[in-house]
Amino acid sequence: MIIILKSETTEDQITAVTEHIASLDMKAHVSRGTFRTIVGVIGDEACIDSDQIKSFPGVSDVVRVLPPYKLASLEAHPQPSVVKVGSTKIGGGNLAMVAGPCSIESEDRMDSIANSVKSSGANILRGGAYKPRTSPYSFQGMGVDGLKILRAAGDKYDIPVVTEVTDARNLEVICEYADMLQVGARNMQNFVLLTEVGKANTPVILKRGMSATVQDLLMSAEYILAQGNQNVVLCERGIKGFDSITRNLYDIAAVAALKTLTHLPVIVDPSHATGRPDLIPPCAYAGIAAGADGVHIEVHDCPEKALSDGPQALLPPQFQETFQQLEKVAKVFGKSFS
Ligand code: PEP
Ligand code: MN
Repeated sequence: MIIILKSETTEDQITAVTEHIASLDMKAHVSRGTFRTIVGVIGDEACIDSDQIKSFPGVSDVVRVLPPYKLASLEAHPQPSVVKVGSTKIGGGNLAMVAGPCSIESEDRMDSIANSVKSSGANILRGGAYKPRTSPYSFQGMGVDGLKILRAAGDKYDIPVVTEVTDARNLEVICEYADMLQVGARNMQNFVLLTEVGKANTPVILKRGMSATVQDLLMSAEYILAQGNQNVVLCERGIKGFDSITRNLYDIAAVAALKTLTHLPVIVDPSHATGRPDLIPPCAYAGIAAGADGVHIEVHDCPEKALSDGPQALLPPQFQETFQQLEKVAKVFGKSFS
């Protein structure tokens, strides 16, 4: 970290800054120039609050040298992380294909969707049992009954399962039934939940909040990593935009940018990003081309009857065709769906 002082800063003010740095068990190195004095801080700067330093009299600016997300950063871990979910690997050239309905609705429906997505090539089955709905009057999910249905479908078709956790109080029961957790966009900055998920031994998909920056997403991942859970997969699912042509703004550049900043696998969710079945296939291909380590697509065999997100679901044959194309795109980039 470099602290830039104002030209009129007094010696007492400089001493106040360097004493503060020393009190944090870090070293301060003062360089006096003709017009400006700067203080170089040596030590673990992730533990320093730069806003606090900025509030010292005489400080003009504070520039971080290292990113504040030290565990998630590529610098800390130059090799790409590979997250294992059952027999599926995500990262390091291994691609995830997460597919299934938005919500778990019934045993029969889950069984039929699981059968079709698995036979098309999906390697993780999704389905929400606890749904974070905008309206309290909308379907809220089947809870534990839904988890049992999802687990049974995963076991029957030999495919690991992922489901969303919205409340730390449900974490234990979800970990009992699911192979992977999902923290949704609405909870990306629920730090209590992230801390609890970090204590669990279950891999997690962390979705980007709709108003979160790339750095915010990485800081949220840091919460999970800091508690010991190293199996974090990031997910770009679209951010708030001004154009209602798509449900959200699919931030494809964020995917490429994340790959320059972190070793964690990154997947894309063109279903929630676009909200449009006709745009899901091209946006899925673009995700892999941008460096994503997998794709997440909602599939439903009767979208008009779906209890959530029906309008954006792909039909099983559409999913099958999309996956066949995705395999070709993956090959171009030397990757494959494990
Ligand atoms: C979902 O996956 O069904 C979901 C609610 O996603 P998001 O958190 O991205 O809106
Ligand atoms: Mn959904």
